[in-house]
Amino acid sequence: MSTTTRPLVIGNWKMNLDFVESVHLGQQIGVLLKNKPAEHTDVVVVPPFVDIRSVSSIVTSERIPVAVGAQHVNPNENGAHTGEISTSMLKRLNVSWVLVGHSERRSMYAMDDAVVASTLRATVRSGLQGVLCVGENSAVRDADGQGAFVQGQLESALEGLDEKFREQVTVAYEPIWAIGTGATASSEQISAMTTFIRQALRRLEMTDTRVLYGGSVNADNASSIISEGGVDGFLVGGASLKAESFCAVIQACNDCYAGKR
Ligand code: PEP
Repeated sequence: MSTTTRPLVIGNWKMNLDFVESVHLGQQIGVLLKNKPAEHTDVVVVPPFVDIRSVSSIVTSERIPVAVGAQHVNPNENGAHTGEISTSMLKRLNVSWVLVGHSERRSMYAMDDAVVASTLRATVRSGLQGVLCVGENSAVRDADGQGAFVQGQLESALEGLDEKFREQVTVAYEPIWAIGTGATASSEQISAMTTFIRQALRRLEMTDTRVLYGGSVNADNASSIISEGGVDGFLVGGASLKAESFCAVIQACNDCYAGKR
């Protein structure tokens, strides 16, 4: 992790937890962060759409130091898009972050690079923070093609992005073979890809962009990855569904940043 960038930890709850369970988890996270504040770390929780209103309400009313995100958004502003949600609907619910192009959306819901690019543009133009998710599958990794693959994803989403929106973008490197599998990438693999991604971002004049890692991050491996992997934080799936493990990941980032300042 760099010494100057505040770490960011995002919990992606995916299609888990109804609104009652979501509120409960949000409150538990609030209690743990109150008992042990993570003042150097930005935290975002990303519930399913139908839970957002409830989670936003308790975050505001109980002053829980987390922001609320959405797992996806439709790039259109309104109209005949059955089943979809717009940026303005999210903003009305105090959402400030959106995951864009998560590998599950790309692989299961036909989100190609062009749709990812238009979704990212709609996200940042509306004033929201976009988390651009990139990462290779195991076949690409086995062929040692991860660099070119991720570079293509980055360029397709970011080339031509208006300069004024660049600071609203975070990149999450999430190798597909590590997501939800328990097969976390090694610190060496993460560090190599983080360096590569930062070089690609530099060419796109995005030197300050935070780069996160996602893929089976948990309470046990977060400390070593944050100190050795060169990332600015994590996108966490499974381990974000329990307050204790999510907050342990947050504390690992917080401790690492505090120790390096
Ligand atoms: C994710 O879905 O973005 C993710 C990283 O999941 P997990 O932590 O469960 O691998």
